[in-house]
Amino acid sequence: MAWQNKKKKEIPEGLWQVCDCCKEYIDRRQIEDALECCPKCGEHFPIGSRRRMEITADPGTFEEIGADVQSRDVLGFHDGKGGYAEKLVRARKSTGLGDACVAGRAKLLGRPVVLASLDFEFMGGSMGHAVGEKVAMALDAAREAGVPCVVFSASGGARMHEGAVSLMQMSKTSASIQRFKSTTRAPFVSVLTNPTTGGVTASFAALGDVILAEPKALIGFAGPRVIKNTIRQNLPEGFQTSEFLKEKGFVDRIVARKDMRESLGRIFSLLMGD
Ligand SMILES: [Zn+2]
Repeated sequence: MAWQNKKKKEIPEGLWQVCDCCKEYIDRRQIEDALECCPKCGEHFPIGSRRRMEITADPGTFEEIGADVQSRDVLGFHDGKGGYAEKLVRARKSTGLGDACVAGRAKLLGRPVVLASLDFEFMGGSMGHAVGEKVAMALDAAREAGVPCVVFSASGGARMHEGAVSLMQMSKTSASIQRFKSTTRAPFVSVLTNPTTGGVTASFAALGDVILAEPKALIGFAGPRVIKNTIRQNLPEGFQTSEFLKEKGFVDRIVARKDMRESLGRIFSLLMGD
């Protein structure tokens, strides 16, 4: 995690948090006001999918779609730490979410849009049936309405507990993007946030008409150690960061969270010619 909750004894629990980057203790309310960023150094802290919708959509305009879509343990999967079915129950209870994605129709600076956001708190934002289905539903809803679609990614990749079903979400979401792009002139904007990796990077997250990234996000497919061992070469400094991928042309623009709504609004106006 990009930050930790190291509390001093005299500080009331939950009100102060320490920034992992600048090490300052900061009032929790200041962090909230700064859209879950450090008000001192600008570090972008993890943000849940519901909060993401709240800070992105115009107030009171968000209408959730696919709220009842949830993954199931079709394989009866067990790893060393227990069953997938129990993990799903625990994740639902601890996050209050049905699965690792929230999607819905909304307005952004007055313009109708469809938004979706993955949620790293729910099993590492991993993509199983439900996440793939919700991303596809968001794209289909945007296509039918002829409005822009924005998907915020934060994911460890495909959800291995669902085996091949999780991998199929890569082709399903990619096919939805192809249908979207071939039938509407509205843009699909992919926003990469910390971290975006694995099968999510390798499918819809990389297929935006425009690809934005939050500052200093980890973005990649396999981890650096695996790549280093495979190609037997040292990796360049800053490899797999937003800034590196911007320099290489994979990311179009790095946008701070506080500027995201404005930037999206400008992109929509520019690409839709209004
Ligand atoms: Zn800081």
